[in-house]
Amino acid sequence: MPLTDALDRPLRDLRISVTDRCNFRCTYCMPKEVFGPGFAFLPRTELLTFEEITRLARVFVDQGVEKIRLTGGEPLLRRDLERLVEMLAAIPGLRDLTLTTNGSLLTSEKARALRDAGLRRITISLDSLDDRVFMAMNDVGFPVAGVLAAIDAADAAGLNPIKIDMVVKRGVNEDSVVPMARYFRHTGHILRLIEYMDVGTTNGWRLDDVVSAREIVAMVNAEWPLEPAERNYYGEVAERWRYRDGAGEVGVIASVTQPFCASCTRARLSAEGRLYTCLFGSEGHDLRALLRGGATDAQLAAAIGDIWRVRADRYSEVRASNTIPLKKIEMSRIGG
Ligand code: SAM
Repeated sequence: MPLTDALDRPLRDLRISVTDRCNFRCTYCMPKEVFGPGFAFLPRTELLTFEEITRLARVFVDQGVEKIRLTGGEPLLRRDLERLVEMLAAIPGLRDLTLTTNGSLLTSEKARALRDAGLRRITISLDSLDDRVFMAMNDVGFPVAGVLAAIDAADAAGLNPIKIDMVVKRGVNEDSVVPMARYFRHTGHILRLIEYMDVGTTNGWRLDDVVSAREIVAMVNAEWPLEPAERNYYGEVAERWRYRDGAGEVGVIASVTQPFCASCTRARLSAEGRLYTCLFGSEGHDLRALLRGGATDAQLAAAIGDIWRVRADRYSEVRASNTIPLKKIEMSRIGG
Protein backbone atom coordinates (compact mmCIF):
# COMPACT_ATOMS: atom_id res chain seq x y z
CA MET A 1 0.00 0.00 0.00
CA PRO A 2 1.56 3.33 -0.99
CA LEU A 3 1.93 5.77 1.84
CA THR A 4 -0.48 8.68 1.44
CA ASP A 5 -1.34 11.61 3.68
CA ALA A 6 -4.65 12.86 5.05
CA LEU A 7 -5.35 14.57 1.71
CA ASP A 8 -4.41 11.48 -0.30
CA ARG A 9 -1.04 12.83 -1.43
CA PRO A 10 1.74 10.27 -1.83
CA LEU A 11 5.25 10.74 -0.46
CA ARG A 12 7.51 10.95 -3.52
CA ASP A 13 10.17 13.61 -3.01
CA LEU A 14 12.63 14.29 -0.27
CA ARG A 15 14.64 17.49 -0.01
CA ILE A 16 17.63 17.13 2.22
CA SER A 17 19.33 20.19 3.63
CA VAL A 18 22.95 19.31 4.32
CA THR A 19 23.89 22.55 6.06
CA ASP A 20 22.16 25.63 7.44
CA ARG A 21 25.12 27.82 6.41
CA CYS A 22 25.43 29.82 3.24
CA ASN A 23 28.14 32.05 1.77
CA PHE A 24 25.51 34.36 0.24
CA ARG A 25 23.26 36.68 2.21
CA CYS A 26 20.39 36.97 -0.28
CA THR A 27 18.21 39.73 1.05
CA TYR A 28 15.04 37.68 0.51
CA CYS A 29 16.38 34.57 2.24
CA MET A 30 19.22 35.14 4.74
CA PRO A 31 19.34 38.91 5.29
CA LYS A 32 22.60 40.15 6.80
CA GLU A 33 20.84 41.96 9.60
CA VAL A 34 19.59 38.62 10.95
CA PHE A 35 22.25 36.18 9.73
CA GLY A 36 25.20 38.39 10.72
CA PRO A 37 28.48 37.49 12.45
CA GLY A 38 26.70 36.83 15.74
CA PHE A 39 24.21 34.35 14.32
CA ALA A 40 24.35 30.91 15.94
CA PHE A 41 24.53 28.33 13.17
CA LEU A 42 24.29 24.66 14.04
CA PRO A 43 27.42 23.18 15.56
CA ARG A 44 28.91 20.29 13.58
CA THR A 45 27.78 17.63 16.02
CA GLU A 46 24.18 18.65 15.49
CA LEU A 47 24.33 17.99 11.75
CA LEU A 48 23.37 14.59 10.46
CA THR A 49 26.43 12.69 9.25
CA PHE A 50 26.50 11.36 5.69
CA GLU A 51 25.91 7.89 7.10
CA GLU A 52 22.85 9.10 9.03
CA ILE A 53 21.47 10.93 5.99
CA THR A 54 21.94 7.86 3.82
CA ARG A 55 20.29 5.57 6.33
CA LEU A 56 17.26 7.84 6.57
CA ALA A 57 17.16 8.28 2.79
CA ARG A 58 17.06 4.52 2.35
CA VAL A 59 14.09 4.29 4.69
CA PHE A 60 12.35 7.13 2.86
CA VAL A 61 12.88 5.37 -0.47
CA ASP A 62 11.32 2.25 1.02
CA GLN A 63 8.35 4.45 1.93
CA GLY A 64 7.87 5.61 -1.67
CA VAL A 65 10.37 8.43 -2.21
CA GLU A 66 11.69 8.38 -5.81
CA LYS A 67 13.49 11.67 -5.98
CA ILE A 68 16.01 13.32 -3.67
CA ARG A 69 17.26 16.89 -3.92
CA LEU A 70 20.23 18.05 -1.88
CA THR A 71 19.99 21.64 -0.77
CA GLY A 72 20.74 23.98 2.12
CA GLY A 73 21.99 26.59 3.06
CA GLU A 74 24.62 26.21 0.39
CA PRO A 75 25.12 22.45 -0.03
CA LEU A 76 28.59 22.77 -1.59
CA LEU A 77 29.83 24.24 1.70
CA ARG A 78 29.54 20.73 3.11
CA ARG A 79 32.96 19.18 2.60
CA ASP A 80 33.22 16.12 0.30
CA LEU A 81 29.58 16.34 -0.72
CA GLU A 82 30.36 14.00 -3.60
CA ARG A 83 30.85 11.26 -1.01
CA LEU A 84 27.24 11.70 0.11
CA VAL A 85 26.10 11.77 -3.52
CA GLU A 86 27.86 8.46 -4.09
CA MET A 87 26.21 6.91 -1.05
CA LEU A 88 22.75 8.13 -2.05
CA ALA A 89 23.14 7.19 -5.71
CA ALA A 90 23.64 3.59 -4.63
CA ILE A 91 20.20 3.33 -2.99
CA PRO A 92 18.09 0.86 -4.97
CA GLY A 93 14.78 2.35 -6.11
CA LEU A 94 15.93 5.96 -6.11
CA ARG A 95 15.13 7.30 -9.58
CA ASP A 96 16.39 10.85 -9.44
CA LEU A 97 19.13 12.58 -7.48
CA THR A 98 19.76 16.27 -7.91
CA LEU A 99 21.23 19.31 -6.19
CA THR A 100 20.38 23.01 -5.85
CA THR A 101 23.31 25.39 -5.49
CA ASN A 102 24.20 29.04 -5.86
CA GLY A 103 27.11 27.88 -8.04
CA SER A 104 29.77 29.91 -6.24
CA LEU A 105 31.81 26.81 -5.35
CA LEU A 106 31.03 24.78 -8.45
CA THR A 107 34.36 24.51 -10.22
CA SER A 108 34.88 22.20 -13.22
CA GLU A 109 36.56 19.66 -10.91
CA LYS A 110 33.70 19.74 -8.43
CA ALA A 111 31.10 19.38 -11.19
CA ARG A 112 32.94 16.36 -12.59
CA ALA A 113 33.37 14.82 -9.14
CA LEU A 114 29.64 15.18 -8.48
CA ARG A 115 28.78 13.67 -11.86
CA ASP A 116 31.20 10.79 -11.33
CA ALA A 117 29.65 10.18 -7.91
CA GLY A 118 26.22 9.71 -9.49
CA LEU A 119 24.59 13.14 -9.59
CA ARG A 120 22.51 13.35 -12.76
CA ARG A 121 21.18 16.90 -12.88
CA ILE A 122 21.66 20.20 -11.15
CA THR A 123 19.76 23.41 -10.45
CA ILE A 124 21.72 26.63 -10.20
CA SER A 125 20.21 29.81 -8.74
CA LEU A 126 20.78 33.11 -10.52
CA ASP A 127 18.60 36.18 -10.01
CA SER A 128 19.97 38.56 -12.66
CA LEU A 129 22.59 39.00 -15.37
CA ASP A 130 23.21 42.53 -14.18
CA ASP A 131 26.06 42.62 -11.66
CA ARG A 132 24.66 45.63 -9.86
CA VAL A 133 21.30 43.90 -9.31
CA PHE A 134 22.74 40.46 -8.57
CA MET A 135 25.32 41.73 -6.10
CA ALA A 136 22.67 43.77 -4.29
CA MET A 137 20.54 40.62 -4.03
CA ASN A 138 23.25 38.18 -2.90
CA ASP A 139 24.65 40.96 -0.69
CA VAL A 140 28.18 39.55 -0.63
CA GLY A 141 29.35 41.07 -3.91
CA PHE A 142 29.45 37.78 -5.81
CA PRO A 143 29.60 38.50 -9.58
CA VAL A 144 27.32 37.10 -12.27
CA ALA A 145 30.34 35.77 -14.19
CA GLY A 146 31.08 33.35 -11.34
CA VAL A 147 27.64 31.76 -11.64
CA LEU A 148 27.79 31.65 -15.44
CA ALA A 149 31.13 29.84 -15.16
CA ALA A 150 29.48 27.33 -12.81
CA ILE A 151 26.69 26.75 -15.32
CA ASP A 152 29.29 26.08 -18.02
CA ALA A 153 31.18 23.74 -15.69
CA ALA A 154 27.99 21.80 -14.94
CA ASP A 155 27.18 21.61 -18.63
CA ALA A 156 30.65 20.36 -19.53
CA ALA A 157 30.38 17.70 -16.81
CA GLY A 158 27.10 16.46 -18.30
CA LEU A 159 24.83 17.55 -15.44
CA ASN A 160 22.05 18.49 -17.81
CA PRO A 161 19.44 19.64 -18.49
CA ILE A 162 20.44 22.41 -16.11
CA LYS A 163 17.68 24.36 -14.42
CA ILE A 164 18.34 27.99 -13.61
CA ASP A 165 16.19 29.25 -10.73
CA MET A 166 15.45 32.97 -10.56
CA VAL A 167 13.37 34.50 -7.78
CA VAL A 168 11.54 37.57 -9.07
CA LYS A 169 10.99 40.40 -6.61
CA ARG A 170 9.10 43.54 -7.58
CA GLY A 171 11.18 46.68 -7.82
CA VAL A 172 14.35 44.62 -7.44
CA ASN A 173 14.92 42.36 -10.44
CA GLU A 174 11.81 42.14 -12.60
CA ASP A 175 13.71 44.05 -15.30
CA SER A 176 16.09 41.09 -15.41
CA VAL A 177 13.43 38.59 -16.53
CA VAL A 178 13.63 39.32 -20.27
CA PRO A 179 17.47 39.48 -20.40
CA MET A 180 17.65 36.18 -18.51
CA ALA A 181 15.17 34.58 -20.91
CA ARG A 182 17.17 35.90 -23.86
CA TYR A 183 20.44 34.54 -22.47
CA PHE A 184 19.13 31.04 -21.78
CA ARG A 185 17.09 30.59 -24.97
CA HIS A 186 18.72 28.08 -27.34
CA THR A 187 21.06 26.78 -24.60
CA GLY A 188 19.05 23.72 -23.59
CA HIS A 189 19.04 25.04 -20.00
CA ILE A 190 15.63 25.66 -18.46
CA LEU A 191 15.06 29.03 -16.83
CA ARG A 192 12.55 28.82 -13.99
CA LEU A 193 11.02 32.04 -12.77
CA ILE A 194 9.86 31.84 -9.19
CA GLU A 195 7.34 33.97 -7.37
CA TYR A 196 8.84 35.52 -4.27
CA MET A 197 7.48 33.55 -1.28
CA ASP A 198 6.79 34.32 2.34
CA VAL A 199 9.03 31.61 3.70
CA GLY A 200 10.50 32.10 7.16
CA THR A 201 9.88 35.24 9.14
CA THR A 202 12.98 37.32 8.47
CA ASN A 203 12.59 38.56 4.90
CA GLY A 204 9.80 41.08 5.57
CA TRP A 205 7.64 39.59 2.82
CA ARG A 206 4.71 41.64 1.47
CA LEU A 207 2.27 40.55 -1.23
CA ASP A 208 3.09 43.77 -3.09
CA ASP A 209 6.64 42.46 -3.66
CA VAL A 210 5.37 39.44 -5.58
CA VAL A 211 5.48 39.59 -9.36
CA SER A 212 2.82 37.08 -10.33
CA ALA A 213 3.52 34.19 -12.66
CA ARG A 214 0.90 35.63 -14.99
CA GLU A 215 2.85 38.90 -15.24
CA ILE A 216 6.12 37.04 -15.66
CA VAL A 217 4.77 34.90 -18.50
CA ALA A 218 3.34 38.03 -20.16
CA MET A 219 6.75 39.72 -20.05
CA VAL A 220 8.47 36.81 -21.79
CA ASN A 221 5.57 36.17 -24.16
CA ALA A 222 5.66 39.79 -25.36
CA GLU A 223 9.21 39.22 -26.62
CA TRP A 224 9.01 35.61 -27.77
CA PRO A 225 5.53 34.02 -28.03
CA LEU A 226 5.02 31.05 -25.70
CA GLU A 227 2.67 28.10 -25.68
CA PRO A 228 1.82 25.95 -22.67
CA ALA A 229 3.54 22.57 -22.37
CA GLU A 230 2.31 19.55 -20.43
CA ARG A 231 3.60 18.88 -16.93
CA ASN A 232 6.30 16.21 -16.94
CA TYR A 233 4.90 14.34 -13.94
CA TYR A 234 2.29 14.51 -11.19
CA GLY A 235 3.34 17.01 -8.55
CA GLU A 236 5.72 18.97 -10.77
CA VAL A 237 5.79 22.48 -9.34
CA ALA A 238 6.80 24.42 -12.43
CA GLU A 239 4.23 25.34 -15.03
CA ARG A 240 6.02 24.75 -18.33
CA TRP A 241 5.95 27.09 -21.31
CA ARG A 242 7.56 26.42 -24.68
CA TYR A 243 8.91 29.09 -27.03
CA ARG A 244 6.88 28.85 -30.22
CA ASP A 245 10.02 29.41 -32.27
CA GLY A 246 11.63 26.25 -30.90
CA ALA A 247 14.20 27.99 -28.68
CA GLY A 248 13.45 25.77 -25.68
CA GLU A 249 11.26 26.24 -22.63
CA VAL A 250 10.82 28.29 -19.47
CA GLY A 251 9.02 27.38 -16.27
CA VAL A 252 7.17 29.51 -13.76
CA ILE A 253 6.66 28.54 -10.16
CA ALA A 254 3.51 30.24 -8.91
CA SER A 255 3.54 29.15 -5.30
CA VAL A 256 1.83 32.36 -4.17
CA THR A 257 -0.77 33.07 -6.84
CA GLN A 258 -1.52 29.47 -7.93
CA PRO A 259 -0.59 27.25 -5.01
CA PHE A 260 0.08 23.61 -5.77
CA CYS A 261 -0.50 22.16 -2.30
CA ALA A 262 -3.11 19.74 -3.66
CA SER A 263 -0.43 17.73 -5.44
CA CYS A 264 2.48 18.36 -3.05
CA THR A 265 4.43 15.14 -2.59
CA ARG A 266 7.46 16.67 -0.83
CA ALA A 267 8.98 16.08 2.56
CA ARG A 268 11.94 18.07 3.84
CA LEU A 269 14.71 16.97 6.11
CA SER A 270 16.64 19.72 7.87
CA ALA A 271 20.38 19.61 8.42
CA GLU A 272 19.86 18.55 12.03
CA GLY A 273 17.45 15.79 11.08
CA ARG A 274 14.03 17.30 11.61
CA LEU A 275 11.33 16.24 9.19
CA TYR A 276 9.04 18.98 7.82
CA THR A 277 5.95 18.16 5.83
CA CYS A 278 5.58 21.69 4.43
CA LEU A 279 7.98 24.45 3.39
CA PHE A 280 5.95 26.67 5.67
CA GLY A 281 6.12 24.35 8.65
CA SER A 282 7.15 25.45 12.09
CA GLU A 283 8.25 22.63 14.35
CA GLY A 284 9.21 19.56 12.42
CA HIS A 285 9.70 16.09 13.83
CA ASP A 286 12.98 15.01 15.35
CA LEU A 287 14.23 11.99 13.39
CA ARG A 288 17.78 12.44 14.65
CA ALA A 289 16.69 11.62 18.19
CA LEU A 290 15.30 8.33 16.92
CA LEU A 291 18.41 7.61 14.85
CA ARG A 292 20.82 8.38 17.64
CA GLY A 293 18.56 6.68 20.17
CA GLY A 294 19.10 3.35 18.42
CA ALA A 295 15.84 3.02 16.46
CA THR A 296 15.72 0.19 13.93
CA ASP A 297 14.90 0.83 10.27
CA ALA A 298 11.42 -0.55 10.92
CA GLN A 299 10.92 1.92 13.76
CA LEU A 300 12.15 4.79 11.58
CA ALA A 301 9.78 3.72 8.80
CA ALA A 302 6.90 3.54 11.26
CA ALA A 303 7.67 7.03 12.57
CA ILE A 304 7.82 8.48 9.04
CA GLY A 305 4.57 6.69 8.14
CA ASP A 306 2.82 8.05 11.26
CA ILE A 307 3.92 11.59 10.41
CA TRP A 308 2.99 11.41 6.72
CA ARG A 309 -0.40 9.73 7.20
CA VAL A 310 -1.75 12.63 9.28
CA ARG A 311 -0.20 15.35 7.09
CA ALA A 312 -2.83 17.92 6.17
CA ASP A 313 -0.63 20.98 5.43
CA ARG A 314 -1.71 23.28 2.61
CA TYR A 315 -0.28 26.54 3.79
CA SER A 316 -0.07 28.26 0.41
CA GLU A 317 -3.75 27.67 -0.23
CA VAL A 318 -4.81 29.25 3.03
CA ARG A 319 -2.34 32.08 3.38
CA ALA A 320 -3.83 35.51 3.86
CA SER A 321 -2.67 38.53 1.89
CA ASN A 322 -0.09 39.30 4.55
CA THR A 323 2.28 36.94 6.24
CA ILE A 324 0.23 35.03 8.75
CA PRO A 325 1.85 35.54 12.16
CA LEU A 326 3.08 31.98 12.41
CA LYS A 327 6.45 30.83 13.60
CA LYS A 328 7.79 29.45 10.31
CA ILE A 329 11.05 27.66 9.68
CA GLU A 330 13.63 29.65 7.69
CA MET A 331 14.28 28.39 4.14
CA SER A 332 18.02 28.31 4.81
CA ARG A 333 17.26 25.69 7.43
CA ILE A 334 15.28 23.31 5.27
CA GLY A 335 16.21 24.33 1.74
CA GLY A 336 14.18 25.46 -1.24
N1 SAM B 1 22.05 27.86 -1.64
C1 SAM B 1 21.37 27.13 -2.65
C2 SAM B 1 20.88 28.04 -3.76
O1 SAM B 1 21.12 29.25 -3.68
O2 SAM B 1 20.31 27.54 -4.71
C3 SAM B 1 20.25 26.22 -2.16
C4 SAM B 1 19.32 26.74 -1.11
S1 SAM B 1 18.31 28.11 -1.58
C5 SAM B 1 17.34 28.34 -0.11
C6 SAM B 1 17.20 27.36 -2.74
C7 SAM B 1 16.39 28.29 -3.62
O3 SAM B 1 15.43 28.95 -2.83
C8 SAM B 1 17.18 29.37 -4.32
O4 SAM B 1 16.91 29.34 -5.70
C9 SAM B 1 16.62 30.64 -3.71
O5 SAM B 1 16.65 31.71 -4.60
C10 SAM B 1 15.22 30.23 -3.37
N2 SAM B 1 14.58 31.09 -2.37
C11 SAM B 1 15.07 31.50 -1.19
N3 SAM B 1 14.20 32.32 -0.56
C12 SAM B 1 13.12 32.42 -1.37
C13 SAM B 1 11.88 33.14 -1.29
N4 SAM B 1 11.58 33.90 -0.25
N5 SAM B 1 11.00 32.99 -2.31
C14 SAM B 1 11.29 32.23 -3.38
N6 SAM B 1 12.43 31.53 -3.51
C15 SAM B 1 13.33 31.64 -2.53
